[in-house]
Amino acid sequence: MIIKDNYIFRMGDGKEKAVRVKQGEIITFDALDGFCNQIPDESYVMDRLDWDNVNPATGPAYIEGAEKGDILKIEIIDIDVADEGTMCALPGSGVLGGDVVQSEVKKVKVVDGCAVFDNFKIPVKPMIGVIGVAPEGEPVPCGVPGNHGGNMDNAKIVKGATLYLPVFHDGAYLSCGDCHAGMGDGEIMVTGVEIPAKISLRCEVIKGKTIKEPRLEDAENIYTISSDVNIEKAIYSATKTMAEILQDKLGYNLNKAGMLISLAGNLEFCQVVDPALTVRMALPKNICSEII
Ligand code: CA
Repeated sequence: MIIKDNYIFRMGDGKEKAVRVKQGEIITFDALDGFCNQIPDESYVMDRLDWDNVNPATGPAYIEGAEKGDILKIEIIDIDVADEGTMCALPGSGVLGGDVVQSEVKKVKVVDGCAVFDNFKIPVKPMIGVIGVAPEGEPVPCGVPGNHGGNMDNAKIVKGATLYLPVFHDGAYLSCGDCHAGMGDGEIMVTGVEIPAKISLRCEVIKGKTIKEPRLEDAENIYTISSDVNIEKAIYSATKTMAEILQDKLGYNLNKAGMLISLAGNLEFCQVVDPALTVRMALPKNICSEII
C-alpha cells in the first residue's frame, strides 16, 4: 500500500480522504520535506517561503481494527531518503535565532550514507520528524508535538525502532512526514537535513491497555516521550511514566523506581525549538525490556 499526494497540515484533518489499511500490511508514505519541497537551491530567499505550507504530513491512514483507547504499535520498516536535503538558519528561529542577522539556506547531499557538509562527512541515520495520530480534541498543526505524537523531531525514530501511540479515534488516522537525513539532539536551528523520503511502516493494534503519551523502543533502550511548552513539565511526565513502567514491570515502589532511573536512565532532548518542546527518558533494555 502506497500513500502519496495526500497531505495534511493539521493532525486530525483529512479523515474523509483516509486510506484504509490492514494491520500487518506494509504502508509506504511518500513524504515531502518539512518545507513542502519549496526550497530548490541555496539562492532561495527565505522571505518568499509560504509558512502556511510547511510541516506537511502524508496521510492519514485509517488502521482497521484500531479503536479509541487502544495502542497503535508502529514498526519503522524503512526510511528511504532522497539524495539531497535542506538546512537553513533563520532570524528568530531556534536557539541561536536571536543572533542570526540574515537567513541562509544550505543544501546537503547524502552520499554513501553520509551527509556532506562542506568538507565534513557525517554519518546519517534517517529519522521521522512528524508522526502522529488524530488528537483527542481539535486538530493540531503538524508542526506541534503532543500526546498524539506530531512534530516530536525525535532522532531515535529510525529504521528498526518501534513507536507506540495512544489511539483517540477509531481508525487512529496515522500520518507522517518531515524526515531528516540527519539531526542532532535538540535540533537547535530548527532544521535537520530536511529531506523528502519514502517511509515504510507496519502497524498493529494493542487492545486492553492504554498509554497517555508516545513510547518508543529500539534494540538498546525503551523510551518514554513527552512534549510540553514548559520543558520541566515534559521532563516530569516522561520520568513519571518511566517510573510507572518500572513499578508495574519490576514491582518497585516509587522511591526505588526513581532511584533506578536516576542511576541508569538518561534524560535526552528530542527538540527544544518547536512550539512545544520534546524530551525522552531512555532506559537500557537489560534493566527493563517491556514498555507496554
Ligand atoms: Ca520537524
